Amino acid sequence: MSGSVAFIGLGKMGQPMVRRLLGAGHRVTGQDLSAAAVAALKEEPGFQSTASAIDAAKGAQVIILMLPDSPAVDTLLWDAGLAASLQPGQLVLDMGSSDPVRSRDNAARLVQSGIAFVDAPVSGGVKRAVDGSLAIMMGGEAEAVERVRPLLQAMGKTLVHVGAAGAGHAVKALNNYVSASGLLAVCEALTAAEAFGIDPHKVNQVFNASTGRNNTTDVKVETFMLSGAFNSGFALALMRKDLQTAQAFIDRMGTEDRFAQACLSAWKQAEDGLDPGADHTAMYRFIRGR
Ligand code: NAD
Repeated sequence: MSGSVAFIGLGKMGQPMVRRLLGAGHRVTGQDLSAAAVAALKEEPGFQSTASAIDAAKGAQVIILMLPDSPAVDTLLWDAGLAASLQPGQLVLDMGSSDPVRSRDNAARLVQSGIAFVDAPVSGGVKRAVDGSLAIMMGGEAEAVERVRPLLQAMGKTLVHVGAAGAGHAVKALNNYVSASGLLAVCEALTAAEAFGIDPHKVNQVFNASTGRNNTTDVKVETFMLSGAFNSGFALALMRKDLQTAQAFIDRMGTEDRFAQACLSAWKQAEDGLDPGADHTAMYRFIRGR
C-alpha cells in the first residue's frame, strides 16, 4: 500500500511515526490542534498539512488516529463530523491508547457505513517510535488487519493480531497496568533501600542481574529517574489514563482487580501531587518526596 495516509494527532508519538511512514514511501496528510506540532513536520518531503482532520482524510485509504484518549477520538469521529465525512472503503486505524469498549462500539458504528476499523495501539515509547521498532497489538477483522499491515510494518517490529475490534486496546491497557505496577514497585524499593543507606545505582545493578529485573530497571531507572531528567516522553497523566482503562476493563470482566485498584490509586495521588504535564518517570520523585 503506497497511497496516501491521513494522520491525525502529531504529538510526541505521532511525529516520529509519521517520519517512519514517509521514510517507507507513503504520502501523509496530517493535522493536529497544535500549530507547533504541525510545524515540526512541515519540511518533511511527502508530508502535507491540512486545515482540518476532515480535509486530511479526503481521499486517504487509511485514516490513522494518534490522539490522547477515547474522548478525543469520539469527539473527532462523531461530534466534529469526521466519521460522517468518510466514504465506504476507507479504514480508520486507531493507534492511540483508547478504551476497548468504546473502540468496539466505534467499529460497529463505522462498519454500518462501510468503513473498516482496526485498533492498533503501540508500546515502546518515543525512542522505539523513532527507530520503527514499536510493539503493535491489533484488533479487528483479519482482512482489515492485512490491509494496514504494510503501514504498521513501517512503524513497528513486533505485530500481534490479538482478536476482534477493541482487543488491541484491551491488551494495551493491560500491558500498561503491568508496566505501571513494575515502575511503582521499583520506586518504592529504591526509596526504601536509599533510606537504609544503600546506593540506588547499586540496587538497580542488582535488580538488573536478578529476578527483579523489568522494563523500568532496564530502561528507565538510570536514564530518566536517578539522573533526575524525568523526560521519557510519556506523560504521567497518560499512564494514569491507561491504568484507569485497565482497571475499568478488569472490573467489567468481573475478574480480580484488587491490585489494579491499589496501583491506580497510587498513580492518581502522584498526578495530584506533581506538576501538570509531569513525565510518568517522575513517580520516583513523588515517592521519594513523601
Ligand atoms: P501527545 O499529547 O504528545 O499527542 C497527542 C496529540 O493529539 C497532541 O499534539 C494534541 O494536540 C493532538 N490532538 C488532540 N485532539 C485532537 C484533535 N481533535 N484533532 C487533532 N489533534 C488532536 O501524546 P502522545 O504521547 O503522542 O500519545 C498519543 C497516544 O499514544 C496516547 O493515547 C498515549 O497514551 C499513547 N502512547 C504514548 C506513548 C508515549 O511514550 N508517549 C507510548 C505508547 C502509547
